[in-house]
Order: sequence, then C-alpha cells, then structure tokens
Amino acid sequence: MTETIHKTDAIIVGAGPVGLFAVFELGLNDMKVHLVDILDKPGGQCAELYPEKPIYDIPAVPVCTGDELTQKLMEQIKPFNPVFHLGQMAEKLEKTSEGWKLTTDRGTVIEAKVVVIAAGGGSFVPKKPPIKGIEAYEGQSVFYSVKKMDAFRGKNLVIAGGGDSALDWTINLQPLAAKLALIHRRDEFRAAPDSVAKMRELVVQNKMALKIGQITGLKGEGGKLSAITIKDEKGEADYPCDMLLAFYGLTMKLGPVASFGMAMEGELIKVDTSTFETNVPGLFAIGDINTYPGKMKLILSGFHEAALMAKKAFEVVYPGRKYRFQYTTSSSDLQQKLGVDSGKAA
Ligand SMILES: Cc1cc2nc3c(=O)[nH]c(=O)nc-3n(C[C@H](O)[C@H](O)[C@H](O)COP(=O)(O)OP(=O)(O)OC[C@H]3O[C@@H](n4cnc5c(N)ncnc54)[C@H](O)[C@@H]3O)c2cc1C
Repeated sequence: MTETIHKTDAIIVGAGPVGLFAVFELGLNDMKVHLVDILDKPGGQCAELYPEKPIYDIPAVPVCTGDELTQKLMEQIKPFNPVFHLGQMAEKLEKTSEGWKLTTDRGTVIEAKVVVIAAGGGSFVPKKPPIKGIEAYEGQSVFYSVKKMDAFRGKNLVIAGGGDSALDWTINLQPLAAKLALIHRRDEFRAAPDSVAKMRELVVQNKMALKIGQITGLKGEGGKLSAITIKDEKGEADYPCDMLLAFYGLTMKLGPVASFGMAMEGELIKVDTSTFETNVPGLFAIGDINTYPGKMKLILSGFHEAALMAKKAFEVVYPGRKYRFQYTTSSSDLQQKLGVDSGKAA
C-alpha cells in the first residue's frame, strides 16, 4: 500500500469546539489545517455528550445546544476548507527537519509546521456499570449518552447515576418517557442543587420515581430489556423497564497524547499563557487539555486560547513575515479570506 502523506501548515488533534474555532483563527492568519479526531463527527463533548442540551455562556449567543454550537462553528470555518480525518486516533508524533509528522492508528500521515493539541479530556469513554452481561443490551436497551431524545419517547425508562448528567436527563426526558425512575446508590447527589430540587418536585408530583439502591442485574432477551434487578436495604427485587440510561461518569483517557513529549501536570499539558505553546517549540495545547494558573474549563476560555495560539503559530509557520493585528470588521484582507468582501472596508 502506498502511503499518502498530507502536507499542511497546522495539524489540530481534536475536533471539539476549541479545535474547530482554532481552524478559524489559524485560517485568518493564512494557515491551512488538517484535524484528527477519534470520534466519527466534529464537536467533541458538545456533539458526543450533550448534543441537545442548552449552553448559555457562549458570548453573544444567549442559548444554543451542543449540536447547534458545532454546526455554527462548522459554518464559520467553512471558508478555510479544513480537512477532517475522523474516526482516527492521533497516535504517533515525530519531529522532522521541517516541523512535525503525525501518524494515526489508521495509517494516515500528516506533516505540518505546527501541531495544536485540542484533545479535551482525551479520548473519553463512558464508565460502564459493573453489571454482568450488560454488553448484550448496549445500543438497543442500554445507553450511556443521549443522541436523540426521541428514542426515549413513550418508554419505561430508568436513569442511573447521581451527577449532573443523570439529573439533567431525568428532568429533560421525564416529559417524553411513559414512565421514568432515577436510581442512585444513596439519597445524595453530586448535581446542581437546582436540578436536584426539580427532580424531587417531580417525585412529589408523582411524575417519576426515585429509587435508592444498586442495579445488580438485567433481565430480558435478544438485547431487549424487560427489567432491572435493584438491590437495596430490604434485599433484591426486579423493576420492570425497557430502557436504561446509565451515567456513571467518563473515563478520561489521555491516550497517545501523553507520549508526545510535552511537560504535563497530571493528565493536563502545561502551557505558556501568552502563546499557549507547550515547553516543546511548535507544539501548542488549547482547550480542556491544558493547564495554567486560573484555568477554567469553559468553551469561551478555549476560544481565547485559540486566538493567542494562532498569533504565535503564524511566527513559526511564516518566520520571515510580520504579524499584523487586524479587525474582521474593518480589514478587507480578512474579509476576502472569509469570502465576505463587502468592498466597504476602511
Ligand atoms: C454535560 C456537559 C455540559 C457542559 N456545559 C458547558 C457549558 O454550558 N459551557 C461551557 O463553556 N462548557 C460546558 N461544558 C464543557 C465543554 O464541553 C468543554 O469545555 C469543551 O468541550 C472543551 O472543548 P475542547 O475542544 O477543548 O475538548 P473536547 O470537546 O473534549 O474535544 C476534544 C476532542 O479531542 C478528541 N481526541 C482526544 N485525543 C485524541 C487523539 N489522540 N486522537 C484523536 N482524537 C482525540 C476527542 O475525541 C474529542 O472529540 C460542558 C461539558 C459537559 C460534559
């Protein structure tokens, strides 16, 4: 098999919201981008974990869902024609005389002057409840995330967990489900107090049930669930249901990025906050994956980091060129790049 080597200016590892916005900032500064993501779609956590949940703290966007934010970012970066390598793990990173060579687990090779790690929490996988035989039901009756709320319409649904995801989905799916029960091992929750209060109110109104105990078994046939076995202080009993949504948290696996040679603090990459470069020149880290004093794991923090990263990346990619600070509002040069040249720029 002949190996195709892609050549570009910048490689972004991770097509989450921050990786996507980095395409925009790099594009405004004349840098072409290839992105690699292990997920089969762009959007990172927004697309995978909460596509239909509302986000309220994106500047100037009072509310949008995880999916809507992803779509808007994809629309915003369209003028820069980024190349996506989805469903692939960025596995090996090597220094070359020109810059960097990245190889994925599917054998894709990309060479670039700079590499931007926007790997979020790493390649995340949901933690599974320790229930024997659960695999047989996965994808049909047992789920670890909500891709389409409608899949739960009219179902006899059990949600397991005590964190924000479990509580949020309890509140969001209760109006859709025929019957809903939340099960948690104790009567205390690690979720926002407001969500807990809303859930308890639904219980008082008899609109859902709250079960305190642990799921010890699943009953059903051919992947179709008919009941779960719940163990509580009184013993074990079956509880009829046809769908189980389990939120036992995520395993954040940094994965291969840990071997890329950057200084780390635990599972996070240390950066210089004036450039978001790591201790390795030409390697940058933005978004949830990085750490610095005062870091807040918010999408808006990652957007800011992308802008500063692009400024330094420009110096690496174009060592002879002078960086020019410009506004998109008034620069005809930037507007041309965006394909919105109005001819009215000052
Ligand atoms: C339920 C929930 C609600 C949230 N609500 C808000 C909110 O209201 N406001 C807010 O600002 N933030 C919110 N967040 C946090 C927000 O989603 C994150 O801050 C944001 O997604 C970080 O973006 P990112 O691009 O850095 O990383 P991510 O979104 O995590 O994307 C990283 C991507 O990198 C990929 N990846 C990692 N390693 C590799 C590899 N080696 N090879 C290939 N691909 C790789 C992953 O598959 C992933 O797609 C919420 C998070 C959750 C879970």
